Amino acid sequence: MKRRIAILGSTGSIGRQALDVIRTHGEHFEAEVLTANNNAQLLIEQALEFSPNAVVIADESAYSMVKEALEPHDIKVFAGEEALASIVEMETIDLVLAAIVGFAGLKSTMHAIESGKQLALANKESLVVAGDLITALAREKAVNIYPVDSEHSAIFQCLAGEFHNPVEKIYLTASGGPFYGKTGLELENTTSAEALNHPKWNMGNKITIDSATLMNKGLEVIEARWLFNLKPSQIEVVVHPQSIIHSMVQFCDGSVKAQMGIPDMKLPIQYAFSYPARLKTDTPRIDFGMHSGLTFGKPDTETFRCLALAYEALNTGGNVPCIMNAANEIAVSAFLDGQLGFNEIPGIIEQCMQKITFIAKPGMNEYSDTDREARLVAADLIKTKI
Ligand code: NAD
Ligand code: MG
Repeated sequence: MKRRIAILGSTGSIGRQALDVIRTHGEHFEAEVLTANNNAQLLIEQALEFSPNAVVIADESAYSMVKEALEPHDIKVFAGEEALASIVEMETIDLVLAAIVGFAGLKSTMHAIESGKQLALANKESLVVAGDLITALAREKAVNIYPVDSEHSAIFQCLAGEFHNPVEKIYLTASGGPFYGKTGLELENTTSAEALNHPKWNMGNKITIDSATLMNKGLEVIEARWLFNLKPSQIEVVVHPQSIIHSMVQFCDGSVKAQMGIPDMKLPIQYAFSYPARLKTDTPRIDFGMHSGLTFGKPDTETFRCLALAYEALNTGGNVPCIMNAANEIAVSAFLDGQLGFNEIPGIIEQCMQKITFIAKPGMNEYSDTDREARLVAADLIKTKI
């Protein structure tokens, strides 16, 4: 039986690579549902190639275009936010890949778990915002969450076969991004083009900027806290510019396991799809002769303050990670639009974390309210600055 996969965010970087995996391993997987925000043209092309049962376009103004193109091919077409959330209930879906970017992915992630669907999770922001609710619901519904983020996939792979052995600590590796080793002064006039030029990974714009500020690593620290049920003190970030070791786990006997591979997101995507099996690929193997210098260092959290803010948000808990995430989304988008300097991003996030009322145990509605409020406050701070 082929595994029928719903790809939420099929037109994005992860979504497109997930379709590459399905194309390569057509005997194991098929695309059951594809969804996109507003890239109707690419969604249509993907649907014509993969013949899913249904597609959803979030942007309702593109509905008729997608419908006209796909209905003659017997592909169901839906539009709008509600359809996006409820499509995961379809009985014929075996696994949902959550690959929407940002808070926008939270509702469909929760819905997938609620419907008892196994989940391959790329949308780290949903765990950052509501990791407590997501993991509790996954336990209740007996849903496995397979990490897609390369670091978390690495940890998941290191944990295979460890059964009840407790984890002492994990090391999340960070490439350091395009500005590794730079000072705050040198980053003063950073342009979005420079920040979008990541040395190791080719990703969507938002996560690429997050990688440049080290917020991506901060989000990943929080993601790891929830995926592996760890205390903040058990999660350490290590800068490893070669991106060969994707992360490491240290056990109570002092032994450290690492997972290695060439940087290629198709590998963790594929493992999340095929777990516990590994499928053969033709991607290049590591040539250790070419890697005589694997190096490790400490992150510079004074220049890259977003990582320190993420630890602060994690330690405080409640709705603070949600505030941090929303403010970051707004600040990153303002930076991409040329309205905010690179070095001003952490300041906006920090002010939002201080200004917005703390809620110790938010429910889903409070998370939504916090997200909305933090976006408004962040936008206001950016406006008054200009
Ligand atoms: P992307 O911007 O390339 O793609 C985002 C996808 O989400 C698109 O298909 C878009 O149509 C959809 N989308 C965006 N906003 C939406 C909305 N409001 N409603 C419905 N759909 C919407 O992003 P990406 O780089 O593929 O990242 C996706 C997620 O995976 C992020 O959470 C990111 O942190 C995570 N991730 C990405 C990578 C990577 O290599 N790209 C690696 C690890 C984790
Ligand atoms: Mg990652």
